[in-house]
Amino acid sequence: MLLKTLREHFYSALKEEYPETEIRSFFNLLSECFLKMKPVEVSMNLYAPISGKKTEKFENAITRLKNQEPIQYIIGSTEFYGLPFKVTESTLIPRPETEELVQWVLDSSASKMENFTILDIGTGTGCIAISLAKNRPHATVFAVDISGKALTVAKTNAKLNKVDVEFMELDILNWNSEFENLEFDIIVSNPPYVRTLEKSQMSDNVLRHEPSLALFVTDDDPLIFYKKIAEFSTAHLKRNGQLFFEINQYLGAEMVQLLENFDYRDVELKKDIFGNARMVAANKIS
Ligand code: GLN
Repeated sequence: MLLKTLREHFYSALKEEYPETEIRSFFNLLSECFLKMKPVEVSMNLYAPISGKKTEKFENAITRLKNQEPIQYIIGSTEFYGLPFKVTESTLIPRPETEELVQWVLDSSASKMENFTILDIGTGTGCIAISLAKNRPHATVFAVDISGKALTVAKTNAKLNKVDVEFMELDILNWNSEFENLEFDIIVSNPPYVRTLEKSQMSDNVLRHEPSLALFVTDDDPLIFYKKIAEFSTAHLKRNGQLFFEINQYLGAEMVQLLENFDYRDVELKKDIFGNARMVAANKIS
């Protein structure tokens, strides 16, 4: 099949499901992935023949896109903080809001020290831990997750980005003596925070394909992870250490209250680019 025909077929097969701009962006990403061709190369080679095997890959991608599967899972990768990350259905797809959290950590005074230690809780693809390690080569970075499958992906991502991160399998809700006497300068987390009542606002591609384990909490105890991590940090954050969270935009006030109840100081709520209260930071004074 000619590239031109393949492209026309791809556009018409998906036109009921997606707007044209989105189809174009899918086609660009898939051509890069399957044909190793950038958009400009596609335009210049419209009469190039595409093998049956490659056409088959596009056909398969069409079926998966029709099934509302996120393009990142189809390609198997995405970009976060300017770095490449492998993603599978065992990991959440990194979000732009989380890049803002990484930026906030990098701007903090704790991350400007000579040597310091960071712990990322619920690391998923490893996107937070790895982008921090990449940008602070002198930091010692640890990351934990309850999911062994996610940790396998995160380890691949650390290699891909040539950074050292110490990964461990840990269910933070049941932590006890894992880190013994170890204390961190920075603890950061983007734990599950979406309430069941918010499911109706979520799109099908997230609900049907992204891991529930990484997303959802119950309506009656939505801050369960934050409580546990605040408690963990009371034991494992250094004096003057800093805590950073990505949070549910509707629970900003509750988060500030929670951290103040745990005696954290300078609790600061921050909006993301969409204007939603999406992050909170706090200091441990004593
Ligand atoms: N921001 C993600 C979403 O809205 C949720 C991330 C999380 O639960 N930690 O899909």
